[in-house]
Amino acid sequence: MTNELRRMPAEPRMFTAHVVRTRRLSPSFQRVTVAGPDLADFEYQGLDHWFRLFLPTLPGRPLRLPRVEGRSWWQPYLDIPEDVRPHCSNYTVAAVRHGAGVDDLTELDVDVVLHDDEAGELCGAVALWATTCGPGDPLALLDQGVLFDPPEDAGEVVLVGDETGMPGLRGIVRDLPAGTRGRVLVEVPRSEDVEEWAAPEGLDVVWLPRDGRAGRPGELALATLREGPAPRPDAYACVVGESALATGGRRWLVGEGLSKERIFFSGYYRVDAG
Ligand SMILES: Cc1cc2nc3c(=O)[nH]c(=O)nc-3n(C[C@H](O)[C@H](O)[C@H](O)COP(=O)(O)OP(=O)(O)OC[C@H]3O[C@@H](n4cnc5c(N)ncnc54)[C@H](O)[C@@H]3O)c2cc1C
Repeated sequence: MTNELRRMPAEPRMFTAHVVRTRRLSPSFQRVTVAGPDLADFEYQGLDHWFRLFLPTLPGRPLRLPRVEGRSWWQPYLDIPEDVRPHCSNYTVAAVRHGAGVDDLTELDVDVVLHDDEAGELCGAVALWATTCGPGDPLALLDQGVLFDPPEDAGEVVLVGDETGMPGLRGIVRDLPAGTRGRVLVEVPRSEDVEEWAAPEGLDVVWLPRDGRAGRPGELALATLREGPAPRPDAYACVVGESALATGGRRWLVGEGLSKERIFFSGYYRVDAG
């Protein structure tokens, strides 16, 4: 069974919610806080817990959701007529606060990367939504569980991500046991996106702001990973973000002798996906 399936709920649940507020965390991240009675049952597992985000096709349109049976939802999703099919993308749970909202509602934060097209205009359906949505706007979340899944004998962790992996790496670093050793490489667009993380003493967190450096997201993190040190044979590695970072990172780690079973890698998006 692949890592994704091992820690994915057997019966993923769809949660409906609404936007409560948004705020700019830093130049490249917009935090959207959502809430709803449904979320009282959301069992947050921490780490890089993620979900499928469903948004109405257009603002003001009703949210039509696919039927979920067991782990199956994709075909019912495609069966929804295109003009009313919701937009669907993958996001990480940045935080959950049970009972913290108005009327004791559960609040959940999502940190959305703001990225531009070649003309310098903000682009991406979710980035546009995150900067324009308002209180009461509907959405839904399909719980997908946790991806980070180290073997019990892991002697160190090697965590690498670009800005889209940042919320997940933040959750992992927050939840790792105190004695964890290893290295975290976090690439972000700008120095102002760098955060202060409380990390286990033996975990070296290295921030890599691009600050206008040419190249696609993830290149800096990949180049830094390749500079070494090589992973220990008992390491567990997690490389996520732009597709070339994920595949290139895995290739380098395997070349340095780390077995494939000890590497989780995932291309979260492609810069040239169209
Ligand atoms: C498990 C998982 C967790 C994730 N968690 C987060 C998260 O917490 N926060 C987050 O912001 N993203 C996260 N992502 C990445 C996110 O799903 C993608 O960035 C996705 O493309 C955004 O959806 P969208 O519908 O807005 O993009 P689309 O509208 O599909 O994309 C439009 C265009 O933008 C490009 N693009 C998309 N994202 C970026 C980017 N970040 N930088 C540059 N170009 C981009 C695409 O290539 C495409 O050409 C996660 C992905 C996965 C698989």
